[in-house]
Amino acid sequence: MIRNGRDIATGSKLSTQVCIVGSGPAGITAAWELQKAGIKVILIEGSREYANYRDSWPDKSLLYNGVADGLFATNEPKFLIRPFPGQTYGAWERERFYGGTSTHWGGQSRPLDPITFEKRPGPVDPNTGEQLPGFPGWPIKRQDLDSYYSRAARLCKLHSDNFSADYWASVLKADVPDLDGFSTEMYQFIGGDYLNFATRDFDGTTIGDSDVDVILNASLLTIEHQQGSVSKLQVASMNTDTCPQKATEFTIEADVYVLACGAVANARQLLLSNAGNEHDNVGRYFMCHPLVQNHVINITRNYLTYDQSRLMDGNTTSGHWRDNNGVTVQGRFIPNAEQATKRGIGRCWFWAGGGNYYYEMTPNADSRITLADTNDPVFGQPQTHIDWQLTPTDEQTYNQATSLFKAAVNQLGGDVSYPDWNSINSQLVVNGHHIGTTRMSSASEPEKGVVDENLKVHSLDNLYVAGSSVFSSAGISNPTFTIITLSIRLADRISQVLGNRVGD
Ligand SMILES: Cc1cc2nc3c(=O)[nH]c(=O)nc-3n(C[C@H](O)[C@H](O)[C@H](O)COP(=O)(O)OP(=O)(O)OC[C@H]3O[C@@H](n4cnc5c(N)ncnc54)[C@H](O)[C@@H]3O)c2cc1C
Repeated sequence: MIRNGRDIATGSKLSTQVCIVGSGPAGITAAWELQKAGIKVILIEGSREYANYRDSWPDKSLLYNGVADGLFATNEPKFLIRPFPGQTYGAWERERFYGGTSTHWGGQSRPLDPITFEKRPGPVDPNTGEQLPGFPGWPIKRQDLDSYYSRAARLCKLHSDNFSADYWASVLKADVPDLDGFSTEMYQFIGGDYLNFATRDFDGTTIGDSDVDVILNASLLTIEHQQGSVSKLQVASMNTDTCPQKATEFTIEADVYVLACGAVANARQLLLSNAGNEHDNVGRYFMCHPLVQNHVINITRNYLTYDQSRLMDGNTTSGHWRDNNGVTVQGRFIPNAEQATKRGIGRCWFWAGGGNYYYEMTPNADSRITLADTNDPVFGQPQTHIDWQLTPTDEQTYNQATSLFKAAVNQLGGDVSYPDWNSINSQLVVNGHHIGTTRMSSASEPEKGVVDENLKVHSLDNLYVAGSSVFSSAGISNPTFTIITLSIRLADRISQVLGNRVGD
């Protein structure tokens, strides 16, 4: 069922078992799994009803705007609202629309690697000998997610939960390259019919036709909480004007609440409600996979055989491989776990034929979201202030990974050229992966994060967070497959808490 918040009268009180805020992959996956277990779910989505996500851009400009500082000031000043009406170039970041950013994402999927979950000290600065920032480790291990990754692969209709290069070489009848110091990592791309979580088929139905009570045009204003428990959500709808104003305001009471608004809005919502911020961690450690969109890594002499190149491009001998659900595959070279650990650097992508530069940003407490001094013009709430700050480890990641790649390509008879870090640094954009702003830390170390191993806010007994804001470090894989995996696991946890059981 889908209804419009505008039809819910001011002063109404809705009640349910679980209320989920946000209809991207994080929120919809959790909602789907919970209703399958017979749990009563209300899913609220702030966007008004539009036929196309482009139509919602003016609303997004009003509601998501704020101040973008630090590296944003020079590289991506409109980060908070991209894309916006009239934008004709550059990165896309996020949507405020039914289906969230799954309305136009790429579907590129791979689990996080075991190394991402491990604590790693950073590199030593070659000039000063100083120990640079490293990677904190997660309070869970990769093996804790293995069975959930398999369930996520089935939910996303991937070809397989096997991502190894050897497996894909057997599917494509291709060869695995042996590049010294690098692993060959394979990415599956979800088929077109399964990309948009608002419209895709889940076992013969859409989320809107399932038992989930979907309410569009229902923006979370505040999370009301006392003595360690959330008591209700204050929610508002908008009228139909071109420059909308509040139409109605109502409350939702639930046994359990899940915040799934994306990593920037999750932090803002918690800050607006002064929730979960006892240790001043909400909004900190904003990370991404910084990207240079231009072709900056140039292969100047080839180093791969035809059958090795085919694996990296996802080709059989007769053309591009695609399965019945539309899944395709590609490979990347990534500094292997041994090299990344030994050097203390983040991991990054090298395309077989050269291309752009994309890497794992180092967590940094000063890269953060706070509330701006200005208010949004619709609900009158403080806007977002975001400050994107790299650390010297990011420079080391680039310098060391590129020289490692050049040496490995040279060993195979090829060659590569690339610009220096200063030229890279000035071209970096975030490009859609927003990570770390409500990070996970062990229940025994609440001072190090915002949510625990079960994604429950440390200081609130019935508020959970879904999405890449809970990642303790970014890893190198695109985040959404792990977001979906964590939401399946979260649904299991909430079912357990509510005394039910989710089947697969
Ligand atoms: C161009 C592009 C390409 C991408 N390609 C890939 C890819 O190939 N692979 C990959 O893994 N990832 C990719 N991503 C990233 C991916 O889209 C995100 O990781 C994913 O959508 C995040 O899911 P989410 O549910 O956490 O948040 P979102 O998808 O951002 O959804 C959040 C939802 O919350 C709603 N909301 C916000 N505030 C409120 C409020 N106050 N009240 C009610 N609702 C609210 C929003 O309207 C939105 O619907 C890409 C992103 C972009 C921009």
